[in-house]
Amino acid sequence: MAVDLGFVEKCEPWRLESRFFPSKAGGRPAWLDLKNIPGKGDLECEYCGDPCVFLCQIYAPYEEDVDAFHRTVYIFVCKNTDCCRPNQNGNLKVFRSQLGRINDFYLAEPPVEQKDWGTDIDVSRWAKTCRVCGILAPNHCGRCKVVNYCCRVHQVYDWKNGHKNACGTEATNGNGFLFPEYEIVIERDDTATERVERNDPSGEQTEMEKYNAMIQDGKAGTFQNEDVNDDLLQMANDEKDETFAEFRTKIDSYPDQILRYDRGRKVLYISSHNQITDVPKCPECDGDRQFEFQIMPQLLNFLDLKDVIKCLDWGILAVFTCKQSCMPKSKYIREYIWKQDIVQEESESKINQNT
Ligand SMILES: [Zn+2]
Ligand SMILES: [Zn+2]
Ligand SMILES: [Zn+2]
Ligand SMILES: [Zn+2]
Repeated sequence: MAVDLGFVEKCEPWRLESRFFPSKAGGRPAWLDLKNIPGKGDLECEYCGDPCVFLCQIYAPYEEDVDAFHRTVYIFVCKNTDCCRPNQNGNLKVFRSQLGRINDFYLAEPPVEQKDWGTDIDVSRWAKTCRVCGILAPNHCGRCKVVNYCCRVHQVYDWKNGHKNACGTEATNGNGFLFPEYEIVIERDDTATERVERNDPSGEQTEMEKYNAMIQDGKAGTFQNEDVNDDLLQMANDEKDETFAEFRTKIDSYPDQILRYDRGRKVLYISSHNQITDVPKCPECDGDRQFEFQIMPQLLNFLDLKDVIKCLDWGILAVFTCKQSCMPKSKYIREYIWKQDIVQEESESKINQNT
């Protein structure tokens, strides 16, 4: 069976709203369940306490299951770069939401892809969302009482970044806080055949030296721009880590892939170190979880990260979800994410990914 690959593409914002069941990266989350949406308490970074920010969502129904007729998995990440630690997942959150075909929010028939269609199918009808980040917002601006916030931190951020002047006037859009918005287009990988690895020893030594220097600087795993990406890919020629070589080979045909969706099968690890050994059970039904998809380091290239050296980073983000995809009783169900980075062995003793 072939893997499904995801790629980011620019797209008109209206196409990425909840009513069209999108897969997307950046911008606000397009909530599936429009009412019981997560708030600050659900999304607090385990290191700094700020709410994690929406990274991406994958629309992935279980075709065989009536309770998962609609099904979306969401990933959030803390924007604070100090919270991004090698092989640690405390700065990441994953949630699953699902609905039957008959539900409170959507028509049983598929949406009509037109800008003015179904505009009343929107989270604003059911819940107040934070103007800055789009999660549940229990607070509002005390002066205008028009705009809502999930927490004090985001209220202060918005005040300093435009609301101070806009307060009392029409609410303005775009606050520079969120990641740039893209549609995630999913396509079947048609290159199941393994490619013969290219043998190009030229420059290998210097690339390896660069790589080691990066590791010493704590920058390994960084895929911030095409140059670094190419450098790292070249290093796969070294036999030091066959897993990395295999990773390189598997993504070679479609190097821009930001998602590999391979439900029930295997993680494509980026390194032989820090692989996952024990996935915690589903907190809702106590059933087993299975691998569902992974986010690739290439997504980092599209996030407009200002400082390439000190910024958000990962090797891969592997997401594990309830195998049964059990029906949530009310809220969004927390699922499990594993962050694997390229780091040397001395870091392995420090592995302690939170459950
Ligand atoms: Zn944090
Ligand atoms: Zn917020
Ligand atoms: Zn105001
Ligand atoms: Zn479950």
